[in-house]
Amino acid sequence: MQFKQDFFTQLPEFYSQVYPQGISNPQWLAWSDAAAQLIGLTQPTDELLLGLSGNAAIDGATYYAQVYSGHQFGGYTPRLGDGRSIILGEATGPNGAWDVALKGGGPTPYSRHGDGRAVMRSAVREFLVSEALHHLHVPTTRALAVIGSDMPVWRESQETAAITVRLARSHIRFGHFEYFCHSERGRADKLIQLLNFTISQHYPHLSCDAAGYKAWFLQVVQDTAKMIAHWQAVGFAHGVMNTDNMSILGDSFDFGPFAFLDTFQEDFICNHSDPEGRYAFGQQPGVGLWNLQCLAQALSPVIPSDDLIAAINQYQDALVQTYLQLMRSKLGLTTFDKSTAEQDKQDLDLIGQFTVMMEKNQLDYAQTWRQFGKLDPTSQHTAMRDDFIDISQFDTWYKAYQLRLGDVADIAAWQTERNSVNPKYILRNYLAQEAIIAVEEGNLAPLQRLQQVLSQPFAEQIEHEELAKRPPDWGQGLIMSCSS
Ligand code: AMP
Ligand code: MG
Repeated sequence: MQFKQDFFTQLPEFYSQVYPQGISNPQWLAWSDAAAQLIGLTQPTDELLLGLSGNAAIDGATYYAQVYSGHQFGGYTPRLGDGRSIILGEATGPNGAWDVALKGGGPTPYSRHGDGRAVMRSAVREFLVSEALHHLHVPTTRALAVIGSDMPVWRESQETAAITVRLARSHIRFGHFEYFCHSERGRADKLIQLLNFTISQHYPHLSCDAAGYKAWFLQVVQDTAKMIAHWQAVGFAHGVMNTDNMSILGDSFDFGPFAFLDTFQEDFICNHSDPEGRYAFGQQPGVGLWNLQCLAQALSPVIPSDDLIAAINQYQDALVQTYLQLMRSKLGLTTFDKSTAEQDKQDLDLIGQFTVMMEKNQLDYAQTWRQFGKLDPTSQHTAMRDDFIDISQFDTWYKAYQLRLGDVADIAAWQTERNSVNPKYILRNYLAQEAIIAVEEGNLAPLQRLQQVLSQPFAEQIEHEELAKRPPDWGQGLIMSCSS
């Protein structure tokens, strides 16, 4: 791994230097070739295993943990930080540099009462979802590897420690700005420093002045909106949308009790610690806005409120436009004269009616969409019709859909396009669970298979058909614990 000079370390009040504490008997549990390529690596070598497990120093790495704060479930926590994530620095690759972080690398000055560790099941889940989202074209941080060990860790019961090696374009969170606004009162100078750093590192086309700040915040609003639109379209619930888990670049970030929807359910809650559903699937667009408002408030000492409000006011439109684009593509509604407000509303209604019907009929979200790849949209007869109990409601909807769709010249090409946007394979919680149980038993094959299949989620992969199935009874609507 080649590291470039890490510019974040020019901000001494923003981090603490800390070295990972090694784990016993490290072993590779997972490795992503696609992520490895990003930083010019080819193979999981023994030398890398020693370095990334914290058992040996890595040449050129800086080793630091960042301080930040954040709104957790609506309440402000003044001081958080990387309690168990140690950033090695920016590793260079063919298309730019990526922060390399060891999540679960040991205690840091921000660990509070935590042990600085991650358990195997959560490390595997973070690995799988990072790579799965990427292959679904959802903006996300990446994961290079999972390293397991026989080191005991206590949660509800005894488990073993593991490390996810995370790659991120940036580790700057909304919570970084909140920290220097609220927790370090009067540090507008620090806010400006962080802002200038963020802009110069990640938005080189923008200037570090009032005009640049304004354009930057609008970009953050738009990127956040786009990320959440992707989640809603693909049926992904993050589960812990605290402001410290929001990346400033709009990449899906810091995964815990996330879930992909099996049956479509607007108020689906995936986090055991969220009984009120603050972060339920359907709440995510609203929470994104709430989080941006927290960020805007934190930035108010340095960016005029008119500029902040003007950007925030763009959020809904940015989200809806991305959502519409993704959902139109899922439905095949790609031809229209012009995207007018009226057309948008009509299409949103058509999409909304379809998801409401899906919910009423308890249909599987991914499987239902996948059927569009077999649909002859010019025919009155569709196999999908049999899935709906209220057939006349479906018929009414289907008629409106066909009318909106208009002529389809090349049906085979149209179907192929639908299959390229409606994934056959998603990371269902029960599949992750099965892979984790196998890892506990010393069998890595199911995890490797799942990873491989999810790296081509749109391909048929007939030999892996069973991984596209709805969950068995035990695996339906799994709600994961927050402990990790
Ligand atoms: P999370 O819920 O993973 O986003 O974590 C919230 C905060 O708690 C972050 O500051 C984490 O770094 C910290 N944290 C979570 N788990 C641990 C742990 N086992 N040891 C130390 N800090 C932790
Ligand atoms: Mg976090």
